[in-house]
Amino acid sequence: MARYKEAKCRLCRREGQKLFLKGDRCFTDKCAYDRRPYSPGQQGRLRKKMSDYAIQLREKQKVRRMYGILERQFRNYFKKADLSKGVTGANLLILLERRLDNVIYRLGFANSRDQARQLVRHGVFTLNGRRVNIPSLQVREGDAVEVREESRKIPVIMEAQEVIARRGCPEWLEVDGPTFKGTVKAMPAREDIQFPINEQLIVELYSK
Ligand code: SF4
Repeated sequence: MARYKEAKCRLCRREGQKLFLKGDRCFTDKCAYDRRPYSPGQQGRLRKKMSDYAIQLREKQKVRRMYGILERQFRNYFKKADLSKGVTGANLLILLERRLDNVIYRLGFANSRDQARQLVRHGVFTLNGRRVNIPSLQVREGDAVEVREESRKIPVIMEAQEVIARRGCPEWLEVDGPTFKGTVKAMPAREDIQFPINEQLIVELYSK
């Protein structure tokens, strides 16, 4: 499956915001954005006035990169969000939050969404008792995610207890570290996504 391979820290610098793509490293003084908080490239330090279109585009790129999704798939999420009841922008973010790889990350079983995606592809988890390997699966209320017994010795999974204790997990999820189990208590709401995102800009971009 295709995926974005450019250096992750460049993406944060390009978007002018920390996107937390590298797990624990993002919270240390090795964070490239903290060291060089300007765009990569020779013109990176120049302050340019952005057009409305550029502002909308950057917001879309930021969210797309945060969740590690390619353009075509992101657009498909938007179409689905637009066809659903409710507010399109909020629907879009909720669809992204409900991805299995994001849920694994939020539960603390992986350090980043990228790592979560890799672990899912390797069949490390079960969903409602069945082995899964599709990172884009949409979870539903009541779903149970579990680390397979054979995979509990993988270092990143063993570290999960610590990650869970440190990071905590959102209200709509519940995690039980010792049994390596997570439950989707409820569907996520827009308010559950704390990261600063102006989804209306994405709606405006795609509505042109
Ligand atoms: Fe972004 Fe800093 Fe994490 Fe690199 S280390 S991905 S710049 S937040």
